[in-house]
Amino acid sequence: MGKILAILIWTVIFFDWRAFADSNFGALLSRVQSINELLGSQNKSRSCSINEEKLINFCTSPYDFICKDVARINEMSLKGHTEIDQAVMKALIDRNASGNLEMFGNKLPAGSFEGTTENSLRNALQDESHESHFMLSYNYIIAANDIFIENPDFKNKMQEMLEKTINGIKLFIENSDRFKNCKDKAISVLSRVKFADLRESGLDHALDCGGNKLTENVAADARSSEIKLCPGIVKVGIISKNYEYLIPILAHEIGHLLVGALEQCYPHDCISQLPGGYMLDEKYAEWFAVKALPYIQDKQGNPSNTNLERMLFEYGQFICREPEANLNTYSSHPSASDRLNVFYGEDKRISEIMNCPEKKSAKSCN
Ligand SMILES: [Zn+2]
Repeated sequence: MGKILAILIWTVIFFDWRAFADSNFGALLSRVQSINELLGSQNKSRSCSINEEKLINFCTSPYDFICKDVARINEMSLKGHTEIDQAVMKALIDRNASGNLEMFGNKLPAGSFEGTTENSLRNALQDESHESHFMLSYNYIIAANDIFIENPDFKNKMQEMLEKTINGIKLFIENSDRFKNCKDKAISVLSRVKFADLRESGLDHALDCGGNKLTENVAADARSSEIKLCPGIVKVGIISKNYEYLIPILAHEIGHLLVGALEQCYPHDCISQLPGGYMLDEKYAEWFAVKALPYIQDKQGNPSNTNLERMLFEYGQFICREPEANLNTYSSHPSASDRLNVFYGEDKRISEIMNCPEKKSAKSCN
């Protein structure tokens, strides 16, 4: 059991979709733009508010800067959740009627679930003591996977993100003196990295995706060098049509897959002192993702600050929603504020690209 847990490492991004703003982001954005245009054309001496705006920036406080507008991401996540849920509920009713619900690779007879309405389905999905809860939760994730993850448009986008991440990581490792003696092993692991097939990943993985809660999870399986996606991970992307937030997440998961290959080359003492939970593996994976990010964004490792900031915004706002109340009790991943303020914010290369003043006490672990 311990071994299985050690091999299958979850990136639990978080799940919390209770507090959502009701404003429409597109409308809000155009409103802000038109206000800016108005200010620009009528009043160019608004230096006071502009200076106030400048007090919080990526260099002074990455977490506060990136997480100040979480409502936008919350809103997209809720919309994405609703879109997936509507399609899946319809599919479950159809599959139940036509004998296409499944369990352990076998089709179940038509009408295996006695209820026929969306309400009866929803009750069974929410009630853990319901006799069909387990079967329906599994089928919910399978259906969400079929409709969204296996959708060719989405699949191509995801593959593009994975290839971009793998290629950047390869460049990073090839260009790094630190990894000279671990390079061959790591490149060989990288050549095997791929997305897992959800059905072949087994029941545990499907159930870890949270049934109709659609948890926004990704996992890495070192036995097969596979990255396992839960359908919930696309909630934000299907609405924003931008999947860049997945790049640092994929880099983190690949960081897990490379832990064995890079074992001899890490700055162990420094990484172990970085803030985070109690699982050292999580610090290694996050540290690795941060170091590789400039190469994922640019072949020479020199992305523009606007490029890097854009990606950090997409990713940061995704993880900003992690409840900070868990700060003192989290047990595995570094918290969102540690990831953004320390792992990203104190990284020497990222600070240089973002034109931040040098921080003497930064924990960069180069
Ligand atoms: Zn992890």
